[in-house]
Amino acid sequence: MPPQPIRYTIRPSRPAAHIFEVSVTVAEPDSAGQRFFMPVWIPGSYLIREFARNVVAARAESGGHPVACTKIDKATWQCAPCGGLLTLTCEVYAWDLSVRGAHLDETHGFFNGTSVFLLPLGLEDAPCEVDVLPPEGDRFSAWQVATALPRADAPPLGFGRYRAANYDELIDHPVEMGTFEHAVFEANGVPHHIALTGRTRADMDRLTRDLKKICEHQAALFEPVLRKAPVGEYWFLVTAVGDGYGGLEHRASTALLCSRDELPLAHQAKVTEAYRRFLGLASHEYFHTWNVKRIKPSVFIPYDLARENYTKDLWFFEGFTSYYDDLALVRCGLIDELSYLELLAETIGRVTAGSGRLKQSVAESSFDAWIKYYRQDENSPNAITSYYQKGALVGFALDANIRIQSGGLFSLDDVMRALWHNYGKVGEGVPEGGIEATVIKVTGLDLSAFFAAAVYGTVDIDLASLFNEFAIDMKLRAASVRKDTDAIESSLGARIGARNGDAVLEQVFDGGAAQSAGLAAGDAVVAVDGLRVNGATLDKRVRSYPVGSIVMVTAFRRDELMTFNVALQAQPATTCVLTTQNEPAAAVERRAAWLQANKTPSLG
Ligand code: ZN
Repeated sequence: MPPQPIRYTIRPSRPAAHIFEVSVTVAEPDSAGQRFFMPVWIPGSYLIREFARNVVAARAESGGHPVACTKIDKATWQCAPCGGLLTLTCEVYAWDLSVRGAHLDETHGFFNGTSVFLLPLGLEDAPCEVDVLPPEGDRFSAWQVATALPRADAPPLGFGRYRAANYDELIDHPVEMGTFEHAVFEANGVPHHIALTGRTRADMDRLTRDLKKICEHQAALFEPVLRKAPVGEYWFLVTAVGDGYGGLEHRASTALLCSRDELPLAHQAKVTEAYRRFLGLASHEYFHTWNVKRIKPSVFIPYDLARENYTKDLWFFEGFTSYYDDLALVRCGLIDELSYLELLAETIGRVTAGSGRLKQSVAESSFDAWIKYYRQDENSPNAITSYYQKGALVGFALDANIRIQSGGLFSLDDVMRALWHNYGKVGEGVPEGGIEATVIKVTGLDLSAFFAAAVYGTVDIDLASLFNEFAIDMKLRAASVRKDTDAIESSLGARIGARNGDAVLEQVFDGGAAQSAGLAAGDAVVAVDGLRVNGATLDKRVRSYPVGSIVMVTAFRRDELMTFNVALQAQPATTCVLTTQNEPAAAVERRAAWLQANKTPSLG
């Protein structure tokens, strides 16, 4: 007999106190005493977050009588044995305005299932029903609901009953409630919704038109014939604030947090840099609909929500998604070639700036995401490399190698399609090494030396030679040169921030001038050669000296005044410039095939 559904209710019971009341009812509780579990992490964001810490009260009852309920570890509640229906009710504090948590006040509510829904252990595969209830009071009467959770009896955009096939699905559809703006568009016949929360004057028509282009482009990339995303409908849940950035992917939706000025205004004809950032984010999360939500590491099937799930392959699942997010914008005509190359150059510059890239491979960065990439500190640039940014460069370099070595017959697109058809579409996990094996299978090219160096090694990829084959010139130059002489300016070898006006060394780069002189992260620099500096003037003062000058730097470490003799270094060459050339013709043609989707070979 199939298991009876688990019944959930969720209600913003005290919006002003940021409290959701959440209940879960089990028809046939475990006779030894039912256990309920709260995930410790949310898939897509590789950090232990301990969502149970926001449960402020829990009580159980059965047949109108209280049932004893105690915690047996940080994330698990154990109820006493009882017969008949068992209901556990929790109050959950929701005041995390990020795409990973839950947030509630009198203007709106947002939650991920991982933050609010307890799993009755043993019932992982049981179907779920959830009543999403409105807050009480007339002032909330205009609230609506936006979610990709399948509706049971709830009307479109309405409160009421929703359902999920199992707990895994239940927690993969975030829910927004409130008075958001709503728009719908079709991408090759599939309805796509935008729910926009926040005080904006965004041009919804423009947003709709542009997102449609991205969605149709990506669907065609994975499914050149069908041209449809593998969803019944898709939701962009967008929250705009003064200053924010973040996105999290789900199987049929994404939660996006953006800055208000990243959204397009009615009179803006062109794609501004800020709007380009938003489009890149939306494109990234939408690409995940295939890559990581369906083409996923075998260790994620199923997710173990009680502990870290280790994979060495985030350079592919996140990095290649980062490669394709901006690439989609140029390929579907939202930005031009130069604008795209500007974005790629920024990524190259950021990767080059950190010496951590010479110590940690992107495979190691993936594996240690839980303790390093997601827990960055002042030493991170010296110790880690980003599987997003360097992973994107690995994506470009692999794509370039395939295009060059196959004489334009194949590209990374063919590999992505093969991964989709062989793994994602059939629900099979990608084992470690599966990506490398697919490259050989699809293209016939043995690129194992490339993978050994670029993915498992720490030597810089020779990008300039690859760009050459696309008639693109790559130069790395110092961030600042003297205008009159073109001489490279000086640097402390540290990242300078301003704290209460003081010049504080936020990061001290390994092997740089500041570190060699004994300065440390956190030091507040107050004078250079006896003249006062602050957060706004230190960098300029340093740059006024020729490279190699010895200057006396006075700084506070905690409350102790210290002096250091610093031999100023040259600004490192971390600014990347990519410029296109008009010859040779074969390379120009290769560039067009790469950046213009309609020229990309489509072998199905
Ligand atoms: Zn991502």
